[in-house]
Amino acid sequence: MPPRMTLAMVQTGPRRLERRDLPIPSVTDDTAILRIEACGICGSDYEQYEGVLRTPFPSIPGHEPLGIIEAIGDAAARRWRVDVGDRVCVETMLACLSCETCRAGRYHLCDRRQIYSYIPLSQAPGLWGAYAQYMYLAPNSIVHRIDKSLPPEIAVMFNPLGAGFRWAVEVPNTQVGDTVLILGPGQRGLSSVVAARHAGAKTIIVTGLAADAKKLEVARALGADHTIDVENEDARRRVNEISNGRGVDVVVDVTSYATQPVRGALDYVRRGGTIVLAGVKGGRPVPDFISDIIVMKEITIKGAIGVLSSGYRKAIELIERRQIPLALMHTHDFQLEDADRAIRTLARQVEGEESIHSCLFPPA
Ligand SMILES: [Zn+2]
Ligand SMILES: [Zn+2]
Repeated sequence: MPPRMTLAMVQTGPRRLERRDLPIPSVTDDTAILRIEACGICGSDYEQYEGVLRTPFPSIPGHEPLGIIEAIGDAAARRWRVDVGDRVCVETMLACLSCETCRAGRYHLCDRRQIYSYIPLSQAPGLWGAYAQYMYLAPNSIVHRIDKSLPPEIAVMFNPLGAGFRWAVEVPNTQVGDTVLILGPGQRGLSSVVAARHAGAKTIIVTGLAADAKKLEVARALGADHTIDVENEDARRRVNEISNGRGVDVVVDVTSYATQPVRGALDYVRRGGTIVLAGVKGGRPVPDFISDIIVMKEITIKGAIGVLSSGYRKAIELIERRQIPLALMHTHDFQLEDADRAIRTLARQVEGEESIHSCLFPPA
């Protein structure tokens, strides 16, 4: 049985996180209580922290939860096929699962969806985020069991790796033998390397900035064949050389804010190739975006937001197989109460610290 109260870091405004003790509700037939083991953090955590996502305040951030089922109602246990004591990965999206979009399997686009951690404290029972010791699991949650013997900081990578599988494999329909170019070497870019390799890509190229030298090194260790420092190398020429003048089959853009990679992708991709845009640019337009190139080369451009169960399942299988040195991606552990510092480290605002994958651990 869970305790009566949980520690949570509550966001009360932009750049304001407060430590609070909140009551834990008792479970009903179709809900559960999760004891958080680790919460992964990513670029959206920073945007939420800054207030640019316009998420409601006060609320509990944390949308990448890994934890143990502490209490669960009978109906939820049957439907989710999990029980007390199981370790689970929780999907971020809370879709209605009954609208037309959901029934077509595109539940991440559900009109009535809610997203864990973007739900106000005022919506009962309030514990909607993973910056806490305990979290509420609503009836429409989607959870996946994962091996309990994995270190939590590795198991929690189901989230970025799931994105890698969806953005670099499922959305572009990457085939065995393809050449895949990944723009951006952050945790999502590196996860894309792992996923594309797993899907049988023949050649994988990753781009980054001069400051990304360490990340590009990790990219090579995780299976990238070539890395390009776009500040000191002519990326277009390198891609051309590597692909024997043909261009690449698939380009995946996971850079945030930079618009140049989108323009560059049109040049890097082969005729008839596919570009996946998964990095948001803060609403900015792409300068010199020449749509004629799309026509002449018959390029397919696809947007990708979020991850579906199939991507998460592939990520979990791969993590459980323990054959990839995923620990190379994990750079920082933080205590829950240092959430503020964790977010600033992620955003390169802490002198001398360079993070790739990091997570928060609540006190036991
Ligand atoms: Zn995230
Ligand atoms: Zn729906």
